[in-house]
Amino acid sequence: MINRIKYLRVSLLNSCNLNCFYCRPPQQENDTYVHENFDNFKNSIKLLHTLGIEKIRFTGGEPTLYKQLPELIQFVKKTNPKIHTALTSNAILLKKKAKLLADSGLDSVNISIDTLDETRFCSVTGRNKYNDMIDGIKEAIKHIPKVKLNTVLIRGTNDDEADDLIQFANKLKVDIRFIEFMPTKLNSQNSDQYISGDEIKKSLPYTFTPASSDPSTAARYVSSPDLDIKVGFINPVSHSFCAMCNRIRLTSDGRLYGCLFSGASFNLFESLQQGYDNATREVNQLVANKTYTGCSRKSGDSAFFPSFVNMGG
Ligand code: SAM
Repeated sequence: MINRIKYLRVSLLNSCNLNCFYCRPPQQENDTYVHENFDNFKNSIKLLHTLGIEKIRFTGGEPTLYKQLPELIQFVKKTNPKIHTALTSNAILLKKKAKLLADSGLDSVNISIDTLDETRFCSVTGRNKYNDMIDGIKEAIKHIPKVKLNTVLIRGTNDDEADDLIQFANKLKVDIRFIEFMPTKLNSQNSDQYISGDEIKKSLPYTFTPASSDPSTAARYVSSPDLDIKVGFINPVSHSFCAMCNRIRLTSDGRLYGCLFSGASFNLFESLQQGYDNATREVNQLVANKTYTGCSRKSGDSAFFPSFVNMGG
């Protein structure tokens, strides 16, 4: 078997300093936890990197809330300096932390930004932290080698802002990607708010041509003579990209998943306690049984995971 797994996503915690309605549904508002599991993460990364992992992304919840994030990034770089270290963040704490994270070896950050309207920011996120996000983005650009913006467009909420967000990214000279709103077990009642990446692309006032995109990543990029940046579309609902998948996911309570939309998993932290050989066997089994056929269109009861805040987007 050729091992295709090159990309590990680690959800460090499920607590967040924002409360985005589509990410943490109301049923989960009070369900937050941060485990003190630094050694478990280190031992898991030590084992999983032997699969040939080339990139590790820390996500959550909000990964910048995890106190030992700088040490974890340093640990990855010590384990193998060639591993690309990445973060997905809402930027609220990056004004304070971007330099420290970059000095620790962070190679890139994807920053989530859904609106440029302060009032709308409050209604989407439930928090009055718009200016912290903007300051965080600017500080990240100063210190972290590669910054991208990510936007989830939701019909009737922020789908009128696609071009404003592109113009904002263009001014900052950072690429932006639009991610389709994905159904989960707890947010599927909002599926009428879904808008496809193709519909967004058609609505934009640019002549786009395909730009270089890494085939193993989810984003398909386009460029335009009117823009200095690339615009990416991540369309997991309308265009399954499972056949190209090269990722596995570890959650903050230690569960290792082959796929965001598959229930197949085991607890790697517990398995490591039974010994390294035992854990290696279970990891190899999960990787061998990983499926590459799209299941991202399942919703409601058939969707496996409750929300993104637990699994990490
Ligand atoms: N707190 C960090 C952040 O805001 O980027 C990292 C965690 S968040 C779960 C990661 C990404 O998942 C964000 O870009 C968020 O917009 C996205 N996300 C959350 N719920 C989603 C959904 N239902 N469909 C598509 N993307 C979603």
